[in-house]
Amino acid sequence: MSRREFFYAPPAQIAGDEAQLIGEEHEHCSRVLRKTPGESLTVVDGEGHTFDGVIAAIEKLRTRIRITQRRENVGEPRAHLTLAQAVPKGNRFDWLVEKGTEIGVSAFIPLRCERSETAASASKRARWQRLALAAMKQSCRSFLPKIEDERSFSELCGVAGSFDFALLAHPAQAAPLREILEPYRGRTVRGTIFVGPEGGFSHAELEMAKQASIPFFSLGPRRLRAETAGLTAVIFVFATLGELESTNENL
Ligand code: SAH
Repeated sequence: MSRREFFYAPPAQIAGDEAQLIGEEHEHCSRVLRKTPGESLTVVDGEGHTFDGVIAAIEKLRTRIRITQRRENVGEPRAHLTLAQAVPKGNRFDWLVEKGTEIGVSAFIPLRCERSETAASASKRARWQRLALAAMKQSCRSFLPKIEDERSFSELCGVAGSFDFALLAHPAQAAPLREILEPYRGRTVRGTIFVGPEGGFSHAELEMAKQASIPFFSLGPRRLRAETAGLTAVIFVFATLGELESTNENL
């Protein structure tokens, strides 16, 4: 069986029973994959909507698709997780955005900590957003994770209460994740996870998190590299919430 290709068209390119691919998506569909009218394909709008359809026409600047079926939240977890993480050096955040998107993260917040090594420039954020888009299609998701603006640790502690749960990855003074997350298992919830820089969270930051009632959880008795910690934390939280148990016969 050939691999099912997902294409991206934001909501503005979907009207009635027609979806349009433009730019790179159009080029990829018409020139790289050489699709022709009559072939069927799947379009996602990055907002949780999936459209199965048939190519109606391939024009110079756009591919027009007649929608035959709509589906909601294909490939999406019930738990909406925001990973707030200090940006590691080099390209390691690229890897984290790609893998985090595949596993189901809803949003990434570059976190500015006392011991942060790197800032999230606008050009880096644009690159991460492109990586998230490619990973969304590759992993058959329908929601495009947002790369949010960089935020300071204290700013984020201040808004942690707007999530159903907020957690901080720290190997000491940790509480059992299973107990913390028990009330949220199998439910539609919004949560956030804080992961620190290579130098770790400062004493003041850990105190601030305690003041904000953000529990600490451990990823085991080994010191993980920051990006390993970020991805492991996401997998651990999703698994504890029961999000990695559903199946998909269409992959
Ligand atoms: N030298 C630092 C280690 C930082 S590792 C220190 O002593 O704290 C980078 C980040 O990854 C940490 O801030 C933490 O959020 C996360 N992390 C790494 N290993 C972890 C573990 N075993 N349990 C929980 N979080 C961990």
